[in-house]
Amino acid sequence: MEIKKKNVLKMYNLPKKVFFCKKCTISNQRPRIRFNSKGVCSACQFAEFKRKKINWKKREEELLRLLDKHRSKTNKNDIIVPCSGGKDGSWVAHQLKFKYGMNPLCVTWRPIVPSTIGKKNLRNFINIGFDHILGEPDASTLRNLTSLSFNFLGEPFQPFIYGQYNYPVKIAVENNISIMMYGENGEVEYGGDMTYAFKPYNDFKIRDKHYFSKILPKHWKKYKIDPIKLKEFEPPSINAVKKNKTQMHFFGYYKFWDPQENFYYCQKNTNFEVNPNRTEGTYSKYASLDDKLDGFHYYLMFIKFGIGRATSDSAHEIRDGKISREEAVYLVKKYDGEFPKKYYKIFLEYCRLNDEKFEKIIDSWRSPHIWKRNNGKWELKNTVWKDL
Ligand SMILES: [Zn+2]
Repeated sequence: MEIKKKNVLKMYNLPKKVFFCKKCTISNQRPRIRFNSKGVCSACQFAEFKRKKINWKKREEELLRLLDKHRSKTNKNDIIVPCSGGKDGSWVAHQLKFKYGMNPLCVTWRPIVPSTIGKKNLRNFINIGFDHILGEPDASTLRNLTSLSFNFLGEPFQPFIYGQYNYPVKIAVENNISIMMYGENGEVEYGGDMTYAFKPYNDFKIRDKHYFSKILPKHWKKYKIDPIKLKEFEPPSINAVKKNKTQMHFFGYYKFWDPQENFYYCQKNTNFEVNPNRTEGTYSKYASLDDKLDGFHYYLMFIKFGIGRATSDSAHEIRDGKISREEAVYLVKKYDGEFPKKYYKIFLEYCRLNDEKFEKIIDSWRSPHIWKRNNGKWELKNTVWKDL
């Protein structure tokens, strides 16, 4: 596998001068994020709007109208909920079934290397009585794609992301269920494209652009990956999607989205459990627990953008009013970019890499506008704690 230096600035269209949001801990290096003239990021602006301006009662009425139109009278599955057994999808599915009387078909795309706690949470969730389908791609193709996308995209999770987005759509089409309910619109909640901030649904085309970095599964054919196996990662044809009148909605449009509250809800209602220890790279225990390779997705974000897991977590906890900016900056300083050593050996073995190659790939993603060498060590040029 050829390991070349990447041009991160150009690939993600990033501004060269790094600065941080005045309200949270996120920097302008998060792709597609925007800042106003006061130096406040789009996610913080939206969080304030969400709290002060949105009439949530009206939004719930909108939800009821939508669900009334689709609710089955024959106990057939009437809505697709992509759900891994984590706190967010489980909250959505549980509310739809028990509060709004829907009959969801929950769909999980298998994590790359499933964790014990993730498997247990999914099992607990299904045991409540949810209808559920698990999608699983060809194992060796998944392994090859993970390794290739780690090097070429700086994102080992890419094959998982394909499936996570495309597989539930496939199931919707196959089962003639036209309505799908996702959790939050990440672009709007965490900073990004605001086009869909005031709409309950998303466009299918936008997904290829944002989540797949415009690199679709068929791209990998050139690395001698069997095209038939790649099909498992692809969405159904756009004609089939249209014929089914498929609509992707965001629950976060209709109901106030608060990840910590989702966690409390699921602890109580879906037997959701957390790791006994803090997750590497951050201070929390309850987010994104399903995959042993998780830590590498976040670590690469840190390498490419200088934005680690503690930055992402603390930024939205500030917006949700859970912690102050000062506390957040302290947490970022303490935990951001911590190396995910717990599953490092598993990651190397899975991607068929050695230490040297791993480091070479990591360094190929370090942009000179983010990183500098100091006494033989890599250091961030700009940090959120420097200007506190
Ligand atoms: Zn902000």
